[in-house]
Amino acid sequence: MNRLVDRLPSAVRYWAYNLRYWGYSLADTLRGSGPGAGEIRFRCNVCGRASRARKERLTREEATCRCGSTVRIRALVHVLSSELFGESVALPDFPSRPDIVGMDMSGADAYAGKLAGSLGYTNTFLHKPPYFDITNPDAAWLGRCDFVLSSDVFEHVAPPVSRVFANTLRMLKPGGVFVLTVPYGKNGDTLEHFPDLHDYRLEKRGKKRVLVNTTSGGARQEFDDLVFHGGEGDTLEMRVFSESGVLEELRRAGFVDIRIRRKPYQQFGIHWIYDWSLPITARRPGR
Ligand SMILES: [Zn+2]
Repeated sequence: MNRLVDRLPSAVRYWAYNLRYWGYSLADTLRGSGPGAGEIRFRCNVCGRASRARKERLTREEATCRCGSTVRIRALVHVLSSELFGESVALPDFPSRPDIVGMDMSGADAYAGKLAGSLGYTNTFLHKPPYFDITNPDAAWLGRCDFVLSSDVFEHVAPPVSRVFANTLRMLKPGGVFVLTVPYGKNGDTLEHFPDLHDYRLEKRGKKRVLVNTTSGGARQEFDDLVFHGGEGDTLEMRVFSESGVLEELRRAGFVDIRIRRKPYQQFGIHWIYDWSLPITARRPGR
């Protein structure tokens, strides 16, 4: 269902989320479960409206407000606000600060337009304008950003993944903040699916997609057990991070003040069912 909705144009998608939200609310009411029966009422800090959802629906990726916001999206706004302003402000209440420069990589529709209305924010894309490729960033972006947002992108970039952490640091001003999410597991090391990726392409074989790679040493490889995530653009999963793997990449790139943002914030509907794949913040040293 999420994937289907994600393919619709944004205006249609908004109403699809809206209908689904009211459908769930109605179903909960008919079942006789109201507030107090595991339901959380909150103000959505993305659209600013009152919302409610049963606790078990507050997963990382399920839209739990009419605007399509998920716990992940609300947490991004919450963490960004806390880092920039020292307090968590709902997006409609953000101050007008076009002097605060930030960029994003395929940021969600639910917040991107509103963020661009208050801050000097640019949402960029790999597959449509304004174009941006974190594996090879345009020099115009270097040292320019007070903040960089990247949510569920780094698991899709081609290896070596260390360079995208290093490039993100270079885009920030000294003291600038990086707000990152990636899906990650709690244990072990990051699992690279295609460590020798060099000259590669996706081919269609019937209904299946196959990754064909030629390594730097000239060896030919084929992979047919590919995992694609929902959404537009380049969504092939290149790796599964581990918690220690992500933190190590940030340290190695030179980030400081690296923090996993575990704390729930229920008044804005931010509640973590699991202790993994949480938002992480880190800063470029200096200032
Ligand atoms: Zn909302």
